[in-house]
Formats: sequence, C-alpha cells, structure tokens
Amino acid sequence: MALRQCPRRLWLEVHRPALREEAPASRVRFAIGDMVGVLARDLYDPDENGVLIDVDTLGPEAGVARTQDLLDRRVPLFEAGLEGGGARAFVDVLRPVRRGSQRLWELIEVKSSATPKLSQRDDLAIQCYVATAAGLPLAAIKLAHIDTRFVYRGQDDYRGLLRELDLSVEVRARHDEVAQWVSEGQSVVAQEQEPRRPTGWHCRTPNPCPFLRHCRAGEPALAHSVQLLPRLHAGQRRAIEAQGWRELAELPDAQLTPLQLRVKQHTLAGTVYFDREGAAEDLRACAAPWQFLDFEVVQLAVPQWAGTHPYQMFPFQFSLHVIDHDAPLAHVDHLDLSGAEPARSFAERLLEVCPTRGTVFVWNVEFEQARLRELAERFADLRTALLAISDRMVDLLRITEARYYHPAQRGSWKLKRVLPTLPGALDHADLDGVQDGHAAMLAYIEAIQPDTPDERRERIGRELRDYCRLDTLALVQVWRMLSGSA
Ligand code: SF4
Repeated sequence: MALRQCPRRLWLEVHRPALREEAPASRVRFAIGDMVGVLARDLYDPDENGVLIDVDTLGPEAGVARTQDLLDRRVPLFEAGLEGGGARAFVDVLRPVRRGSQRLWELIEVKSSATPKLSQRDDLAIQCYVATAAGLPLAAIKLAHIDTRFVYRGQDDYRGLLRELDLSVEVRARHDEVAQWVSEGQSVVAQEQEPRRPTGWHCRTPNPCPFLRHCRAGEPALAHSVQLLPRLHAGQRRAIEAQGWRELAELPDAQLTPLQLRVKQHTLAGTVYFDREGAAEDLRACAAPWQFLDFEVVQLAVPQWAGTHPYQMFPFQFSLHVIDHDAPLAHVDHLDLSGAEPARSFAERLLEVCPTRGTVFVWNVEFEQARLRELAERFADLRTALLAISDRMVDLLRITEARYYHPAQRGSWKLKRVLPTLPGALDHADLDGVQDGHAAMLAYIEAIQPDTPDERRERIGRELRDYCRLDTLALVQVWRMLSGSA
C-alpha cells in the first residue's frame, strides 16, 4: 500500500521506519480505526473462541507461523499473517465457512470509513493476492465498513454497525495487477539507496505520508513553493506538475484566481494586504454586544450513546468572549467530560450564557450553524432560541479572506495561521498539549473513558479549555484588527 502512494515511501517504511511522523489527522484516524477493530472482533466472534494474532508482540515472521498453526482449529482469526507470491499481508478477519463438504475461509478487511475508498479496494486486492498465493481456499473477499444508517440501541449491541461489501469478483480479477505491484515493490526494497522522488501533492493522497518532514528536509529550499497557493483545482495541479513549476514566481498570473494572485503577489513582495476600508464597511452593521464563539465537537465511528448513529457530530465544548461597548472583555465557557451524551447540556449552557442580541462572530460560519441546526432538530423546546443565535452569526473567516493577507499565513486562513500575524503575540504553538481540533477530539475521547485517572482527566480539561479560549480570543484580535479598533 505504501508503494501505491510512492516508491520512496515503501523504501522508507522498510529501511527507515523510525523517521515516521504521523500527522494529527492520521492519529485521529488510527484511534478510530482501533476502536472499530476491537468492535469487529466482538461482532465476528460471538462464540468468543477466536484468536487475535498479536503481530506487535510476536513480530511478522512469528505472526505468519502462528497463523499457520491455528488454521486447523477452524476458529475466527484476527490479524492473521499470510505469506505468498512474494508478499506478506495481515488480514483483519479470517472467518471459517463451509460450502457443502468444502472447508473455506471468508477474508474480511474492516475499515472505519463510512464509504469504501479506492485505496481500500487496492488493499483488499493485495490481501486476496497474498491469501490465494498462500494456498488459502477463499469463499469470499469482503470489505466491511461503517453503515451510517445504524442507530445504536445501547447495551453494547452493535449488530448492524458494519456493512459488508462482497468484492470477490473484482479483486480476484486484479491478480496480475497486484503481481506487478509486488514485483515492483520487491525491486524498490532491494535498492541500497533511498529512491529520489520530489515531494508533491501525491504526499497527501490517499493519506498524509508520515515521511513528509524527512523528504522535505532533503530538498533544496524553495524561495516560495507553488504549494503555498490556496484552492488549486485539479487542472491547475496537473499543469504545474506537467510544467515542473516549483517556485511561485514561475506560475503565469493569467492562470490564477484573484485570491491566488493576491497570495502570489504579496508573498513575492513580502507585503501585507489589508483593505482597511472594506473590512470596516463589512463590520459596520454588526451590532453590539459583540460575541466571539467557537465549538469543539467529537465524531465517533462507534456510537457511545443510545439513539445516536456513527459519525454523528456532538458538540461538547464552547468558548465565548463578549465585548459590550465599554465593558471589559468577558469570557465564559463550557466543557462536559462526564461521558454522558454532551449535546443537551451544551445547548442549555449556550442559551444560558449567550446574549440574546448583538452579533455572534465565528470562524467558518457553516460549521457552527450546521451544529446549531442539528441541536434545534433534536431539542424542539430549544429550537427557537438556538436558531436565533444562528441567525445572528457573522463569518469572520469570509471577511478576513476577502480583506487581509499576511505572507506568514503561507496561503492559509486557518485561525492558527492568521493569529501570529496580528498584534498581541498570541500563538497556538504556545499552548501546552491540545493545539488543534484533531488533538481536541482525541483528548475528549480519552477523557470520557471510565478508566482514565481523575488527574489525567483534569489535565485534559485544562488543556481543552485553554485551547478553545485561545480560539475565541483570536477571533477578538481579528475583529479588532478588521474593525479598526486595534
Ligand atoms: S513524503 Fe512524499 S515523496 Fe516522500 S516518501 Fe512520502 S509520498 Fe514519497
């Protein structure tokens, strides 16, 4: 699978695995994948006679040998190691089945995504190739993924959470294609030297490559990389790769959108773009008191609360700063780490502390408005008040993107990129622990586990509050700059 992304990645995975550095989004994906993996073992082993082959403890060779020893027992095997055709694979689930007198196996790859992805089909084709070459008689080859229509009934009853897709015909037909990959992979791994391949957009597809820092460090420093440009569409990327453009200065202006052109011009010139009058005009009609609001949410592949479904979003925290004319800046927040379903307490607390008039500033309004609409649909008694907050929301991201750009933002209007460019010396990088939304979600999941020690839960609580508070303080700073009050 590493080879499918980039031959250099395969080489590094085999010869320099210590250089891996996982991106925050990948850590969330792995944590969710682990939860689904544990659940899959319960679902596919109701009689509890299956065996998990612990490859982390055993090591790959011993994992394969242990699998061979267990095949005769005809029980479900998890993380089963198979070897054949020049490759080795570890299969999420091997389930024994009978077809008449035939003793066969179902091979199942379990994925935490809501929809099957192309890369997962590649993964399954490789599993099928290896299992067939290893001589395992297969009845079916399946992808099991999360069914978002599932509603959790409680009592640990997760029957129906995984939806199986039988891809036997498709992946068997790809045997020769996989054989080609294996042969190519063998020759890459046999090389003594690390293959040379420049970084590019392939480093992020299908998932962020964990060797990005290593590969970038070995490249000649670019004055201004083309990757600084925001919102490049597929056609632009193809043109850039075809032309071999790596420096921003090489890109013809005529091929850029107005926003991209602004980023290019101000990056090359090292100047700040600020349409002061336009920004002040955008904010002129925004009535006081001015409120600055930010939500944190959790999304779980395995629902934890009865009546909820996979990947439903649950707001569990908010921070709110308020400026009411000449009154000092006020702050209030909410964080629920009780482990109970957090949406109701979140909504009630928000209505309790949020003023009922004035302007509510947020960053990327679609997100907060969507969460308020969901809460309004669930809690009819709070509906009118929640939608009233939504109606008073103004998107500071949209205004900032139109009116302001600092080269230090490096082509991004993420709040953590804009904030350090403003007066006040605030920076998410100075936070202890949680520094972004992915980390906040992971921290929340850890905190609500019953076996998390109280001391650890309290620490997470402090980190989450500091992080969310900084986000709304950042909104205040942005607003002050845009409105001309700073
Ligand atoms: S960072 Fe990019 S170039 Fe380097 S190994 Fe990963 S995918 Fe390949």
